[in-house]
Amino acid sequence: MTPFDYVRADGPAAAVNQVAGSPGAAFLAGGTGLIDLMKLYVERHDRLVDVGRLPFDQVEATDGGGVRIGANVRNSDLAYHELVRTRYPVLSEALLSGASPQLRNMATVGGNVMQRTRCPYFRDGFSPCNKRAPGTGCSAKDGYNRPNAVLGVSEQCIAAHPSDMCVALVILDATVRTQGPKGERAIPFADFHLPPGDTPDRETVLEHGELITAIDLPAAPWATRSTYLKVRDRASYEFALASAAVALEVADGVIKTARIGLGGVATRPWRAADAEKVLVGQKPTPEAFAAAGEAATKGAVPRQFNGFKVALARRVVARALEAVAAVR
Ligand SMILES: Cc1cc2nc3c(=O)[nH]c(=O)nc-3n(C[C@H](O)[C@H](O)[C@H](O)COP(=O)(O)OP(=O)(O)OC[C@H]3O[C@@H](n4cnc5c(N)ncnc54)[C@H](O)[C@@H]3O)c2cc1C
Repeated sequence: MTPFDYVRADGPAAAVNQVAGSPGAAFLAGGTGLIDLMKLYVERHDRLVDVGRLPFDQVEATDGGGVRIGANVRNSDLAYHELVRTRYPVLSEALLSGASPQLRNMATVGGNVMQRTRCPYFRDGFSPCNKRAPGTGCSAKDGYNRPNAVLGVSEQCIAAHPSDMCVALVILDATVRTQGPKGERAIPFADFHLPPGDTPDRETVLEHGELITAIDLPAAPWATRSTYLKVRDRASYEFALASAAVALEVADGVIKTARIGLGGVATRPWRAADAEKVLVGQKPTPEAFAAAGEAATKGAVPRQFNGFKVALARRVVARALEAVAAVR
């Protein structure tokens, strides 16, 4: 780990100035992702600006039935919050499927949104990796790619996005609120994470020094019937091999609204909009759910060791839909 200065920000504007004015600076929140990456020499910063004590620590109901989540709300506090458990169970379940209780007690919403891939070649600090060292190549494409993505991949990068929480946020039409050197922004969550393309090192639309202040969730009555299903190599404290965030609204025996997101298999939190269209107007049957699973993985590009993820993701989608359809 290279030496760095530690600064505690006394307000959002100061935090933005302290990072924006220094190319080697970064925001520090819970530290559960960033410090690991610095210890591994994957990231090197000469200054960390601690934003973890800024007053973005509330979960509040908003006019019209939505919820505003402060960027510093801890993952545990968000998962157990009454507004989230009752209005957006998929978000609560996604959070509780992630990491461990100790990590969830430290990890913040802003940090979770910004967490980086667990691709072993990215994290080893020395293998060719276009995300860590642009222009060096992608070791995963023809290497050990079992944990890597099959959807949204490019020739430059097949790293899977690791977050569970983000898969729920992408089906809930969340908005990311930021404060940066150029002022405030509201960014639709679906546009927030970038596909790898030719620049996998650029992962989000944030500018250097732009601070996440909150996540807004709109009213979503259909989300009361939602769930998150995560399949992984062990029952806890493990990232997803494939996961699905789903929601269903069924009226008069027919699906009116369907939402499907995928985790563990894509380069960014993945909204399977085509699979949602397959369901709307159909009866909630196992056949319809299987068809949605097929549609959700259309365009997948499997590699030597991760081809199983295509079949797994289909089944995870279908099973999650069956589970949520059975909710009374
Ligand atoms: C062993 C282990 C297992 C894990 N398992 C899972 C899992 O199963 N599922 C899962 O989803 N996650 C998992 N995680 C990841 C964990 O959720 C993240 O490390 C955590 O959410 C990061 O939050 P943090 O507050 O600690 O962020 P930090 O580590 O402080 O920061 C992470 C990044 O976010 C940036 N950042 C932080 N706050 C802001 C802000 N307000 N605005 C802009 N940028 C900001 C930082 O600059 C940094 O780049 C695991 C982590 C570990 C260490």
